[in-house]
Amino acid sequence: MPPIISVSNLTKSYASGTPALNDVSLDIEQGEILALLGPNGAGKTTLISIICGLVTSTSGKVTVGGQDIVTDFRAARRMIGLVPQDIALEPFETVIRTTRLSRGLFGEPRDDAYIEKVLRSLSLWDKRNSPTRELSGGMKRRVLIAKALSHGPRVLFLDEPSAGVDVELRREMWQLVRDLRAQGVTIILTTHYIEEAEEMADRIAIINKGRILLVQDKADLMRKLGRKQLRLDLQKPLEIVPRSLIQYGLKRSQDGRALIYDYDTQAERTGITRLIADLAAEGIAVRDLDSSQSSLEQVFLELVDEDSA
Ligand code: ADP
Repeated sequence: MPPIISVSNLTKSYASGTPALNDVSLDIEQGEILALLGPNGAGKTTLISIICGLVTSTSGKVTVGGQDIVTDFRAARRMIGLVPQDIALEPFETVIRTTRLSRGLFGEPRDDAYIEKVLRSLSLWDKRNSPTRELSGGMKRRVLIAKALSHGPRVLFLDEPSAGVDVELRREMWQLVRDLRAQGVTIILTTHYIEEAEEMADRIAIINKGRILLVQDKADLMRKLGRKQLRLDLQKPLEIVPRSLIQYGLKRSQDGRALIYDYDTQAERTGITRLIADLAAEGIAVRDLDSSQSSLEQVFLELVDEDSA
């Protein structure tokens, strides 16, 4: 299946200086949840704004469902729903009318059955005749999603869905997004919360200073991160690792006072018991042990740090 969104060699320079996007290429597959993860100022909003046709790129190309976002703007834009970060709703308008109006803005004919389906799926049907100002914060966010879905888009963009949202509402949003994917909607969310990317995404794209540093299946990423490190502090410094221990792939700390052993937490055997026995057989005495697990947060920070160095 061709990608639903294809971004090639996209660059954006605002008048003010350094490029906000620098040669970004990215394919987004139909039906996936892609999290665009990056620190503030990384270029996330600029990227989605260009894909949604709100900002023009300096160079590069974007297609949505095969339609060019510049030359076939209307056709491309119709396939997109955008849920903005800020809650901006007509306070006196009712839920159902504001949702219908959004659909009308796309030039779509009125379709009450579809609007009912959208509002029901967001648990807003009972509130359809309430003015939006009377709704709770969580419901207001759902109305924004209803408006974004009103014209039946194939792709939904969520810009920082958890910004300023309490934990309970955040969980509710996450469930909602999963339900939408189950209905076949492709979802792209921008976030600077690592937890959010970890919880929701099928794939994670890490962006920093206008460049994509990594795009990877979350499961693969987590499998890699499933590795743990065991640090063995030695009684006496070691000049070289004995040949008999080569199979463990041990790394020696710079001062030779510690050995680092990488192991896979998912593996049936970690090899630790055998390693300790083999060290003892070589007469290497261990003073202390410490294990640590790399997390998405560490990988993210390392990548971003390296990139800034
Ligand atoms: P993010 O959404 O990841 O926080 P942005 O896309 O908002 O990042 O910003 C990327 C860079 O572009 C930042 O350096 C920001 O200051 C700059 N930028 C964003 N919007 C504008 C604008 N309208 N005019 C000038 N510079 C901008």
